[in-house]
Order: sequence, then C-alpha cells, then structure tokens
Amino acid sequence: MAITEPVVIAGAGPVGCTAALRLAQAGIPVILLEALDDLPETLRASTFHPPSMDMLDELGMAKPLIEQGLICQKYQYRDRRTGEIAEFDLSVLEGDTRHPYRLQAEQWKYTRLVWNELQAKYSNVATCLFNHAIKGVWQTADGLEILVSDHGEEKVLRGSFLIGADGADSAVRKAAAIRFEGFTYPEKFLVASTPFPLEEKFERLALVNYVSDPEEWLVLLRTPTLWRVLIPTDPAIENDALWLSDQWIQDRLHHMAPHDEDYEIIHRSIYRVHQRVAVTYRRGRVLLAGDSAHINNPLGGMGMNGGIHDAWNLCDKLIQIHAGEPMDPLLDLYDRQRRGICVRFVQEHTKNNKALMESKDPEVQRKRQADFMRAANDHGLARAFLLKTSMIQSLREAALIV
Ligand SMILES: Cc1cc2nc3c(=O)[nH]c(=O)nc-3n(C[C@H](O)[C@H](O)[C@H](O)COP(=O)(O)OP(=O)(O)OC[C@H]3O[C@@H](n4cnc5c(N)ncnc54)[C@H](O)[C@@H]3O)c2cc1C
Repeated sequence: MAITEPVVIAGAGPVGCTAALRLAQAGIPVILLEALDDLPETLRASTFHPPSMDMLDELGMAKPLIEQGLICQKYQYRDRRTGEIAEFDLSVLEGDTRHPYRLQAEQWKYTRLVWNELQAKYSNVATCLFNHAIKGVWQTADGLEILVSDHGEEKVLRGSFLIGADGADSAVRKAAAIRFEGFTYPEKFLVASTPFPLEEKFERLALVNYVSDPEEWLVLLRTPTLWRVLIPTDPAIENDALWLSDQWIQDRLHHMAPHDEDYEIIHRSIYRVHQRVAVTYRRGRVLLAGDSAHINNPLGGMGMNGGIHDAWNLCDKLIQIHAGEPMDPLLDLYDRQRRGICVRFVQEHTKNNKALMESKDPEVQRKRQADFMRAANDHGLARAFLLKTSMIQSLREAALIV
C-alpha cells in the first residue's frame, strides 16, 4: 500500500527528527509536531556512536555535524585510586564502520540541522510545526485520528501512522495505554559544565572518560566548548537546592581536581535516572521510538543513539510498507527487533556499567580496571569490546531477529 496520508511524528527531538528526514527523503509525507515553541537547546546527549554517524551520513547530516563537533577517537576508563588508565582506540573498528570514532556534539545541534534541512529541501513532503502537542489518538479502519493542541486550540488530524518520539513522559505512549515498566534509581545525577580546560589538571585526559572510585565515581565529557562533569548525589538526601548549590559543586570539582580558584560553572542540572522499557513498541498503527519506548542511565551514551537506531529500523519498515509489503508482519518485526535488543543489550549494559563503576568493593574495582587494561591492549579483545559499546553489535544482533 502506498502511504498517501502523512505519517505523524510527535516530538522534534533527535529521534523524531531522524524519522522525519528519513521518511521525507523516501518521498513519504510526514508531519513533524513539536509541543514547544522552538527546538529545545538543553544540554543532554553529547555523544554520537559510530553506527549512528553512519546513519547520519546516509541522511547527509554527518558532515555538517562533524563540522560543529569534536572527533573522539580514544576514550578512557580511569581508576582514581591507582591512577591506571585503560584507553580504547576506536580505530580498531575501521573495517566495521565508516566512522571509527565517537562524535562529541550536542544533540540540539543535530535537531537544528535536521529541522532546517526539512524546511529547506523537503517542504513538498514534510510539514514541521511548533506549538503542536499530541493529546490523543484513535485508530480507524484504515488509519488514525490524532487529537492535537495547536497553540492551545484542539483539532483533529488524520494520519496513516503515528510515531511517538515525544520523550520519556510520552503522551502518545499514555494515549495508547502502553505500560512503561522498570525502576527508578534512588540517587539523582548532577551535571555541571565548565569552560575551564580540565585537560590541564589530568595527565593524558581523553574527550570521554569514565572515572571509577569506591567513594565517588564520575564521568568527564568534552563538548566543543565545555567540560561536562557527571556526578551521582547521595540518595539519602532529597535536597536539589543542596546539590545545585555553588558550594557543593565547587567542593566536588575541587575534590576531583584541586584548583586555587572557584571553577566557572555555566550550566548545572540535576535529574532522576530510570531503567524502563515500554511493554510493546506497537499498538496497531501507533509506534514508539526513542525515550518514549526506553530510558536508561547515561553511562555509555546509549539513550539517544538507541533512539536513532529505533527510528532507522522503523523507517525501513515504513518504506517497505510504502513499496507494497504487508504492514502487520513488518511492524511486529520492528517491535521484536528493537524492543528485544533494548531489553537484552542496552538495559543490561547500562545497568552493569553503573554497578561496576560505583562498586565499593576494592576487589571488584581492581578486577574491573584489570579487565579494561587487558582488553585495551589486545586488538581482538578491544575490537570485541568496542563493537559492543559502540552499539554495532546490537544492530547486527537485531538484524538477525526474524
Ligand atoms: C544529562 C543527560 C546526558 C545524556 N547523554 C547522552 C549521551 O551522551 N548519549 C546518548 O545517546 N544519550 C544521552 N542522553 C539521553 C538522551 O538525551 C535521550 O535519550 C534523547 O534526548 C532521546 O531523544 P528523543 O527524541 O526520544 O526524546 P527527546 O529528546 O526528549 O525529545 C522529545 C521531544 O518531544 C517533544 N514533546 C513532548 N511531548 C510532546 C507532545 N505531546 N507532542 C509533541 N511533542 C512533544 C519535546 O518537547 C521534545 O522536543 C542523556 C540524557 C541526559 C538527561
């Protein structure tokens, strides 16, 4: 069946934008609806993994994003106590990807590029609207009726499919009555950003660094303009004002890297972290992708990247349906492939990452670092490890699910 009525996409985050551009490039009509009055520029994801870069390349978006980002070819696992550094070099993936590196670039740069591309080149098939929030959806015999708030006024749109890419609090997921199962971590995470050149404080610092310590683990990430420091807070104390205070942040940063002045902090945020997966990614013609379908802790940078991979897989299926393939088997396959991989791989990997980094047991920490040091220095082990952490393996495994 050729898709003649538009595919409606809720949310212009990285996942909704990827889906909109991919479908528009295939000549499928799309309506991309964003609830806010502009694209959010909050600092969230800042790592694009190699297979995501391969996908962006096919969309024509890799080059302009690379121009605004930093190529991170090596990243590190550091042991704060012993000073040991296990450094993984992504160039061992040269035969596996066209982009054997992580690109450090803020996710809003990507959404801005895609939104502009849709307006500039695909306005014949793509309509992009701000101040449009999805409120509800009904399935009809041959499509969908979608209730939308347009600048506060309610109206109904017809669509062939609805992609809920409207984030963790998804109105689409709720309207389709899909449960979001999992758990919430007791502690919140703080992210503080400083323009201070932290590389001056550490020997051989990479652009991405996971630092373990039985007392306080942390992640140090470079964006083109800032260093971002991710630190867990004490779950026993529910006091955001304390965690966001100058005093606490300065104490943590000085504990990490002593300095004779206050660090300049130009952005700080505190957030809850969950591990949750929707019980299904499909209800009829309503499909979930990205954070609306799954959320996980940020250790490993798999949230946005996994969401981009969802959008890619789902759009492939819609393109095949547009070309005449039957709908139900393909959309069920999307659910099996992407949900299956999320549960088996992304959720497990991110939970294990956190458990290992925060372990208070010195023996666990010692073994973890020893394993990393061994793998980093052995070509075969390093490649196997990086195929997993860069999410290439999960895409290969998903493709085997029939
Ligand atoms: C501090 C932090 C660091 C992170 N770092 C990484 C990282 O390095 N790598 C990584 O892969 N992931 C990372 N993540 C996770 C990543 O940010 C998310 O996984 C990603 O933003 C999900 O994209 P999305 O498009 O699914 O949802 P979102 O980015 O949440 O976008 C959803 C969009 O939908 C809009 N919307 C909401 N409701 C409606 C509605 N009813 N109708 C229409 N529009 C609606 C919202 O305004 C928003 O624009 C990080 C997250 C945080 C908080």
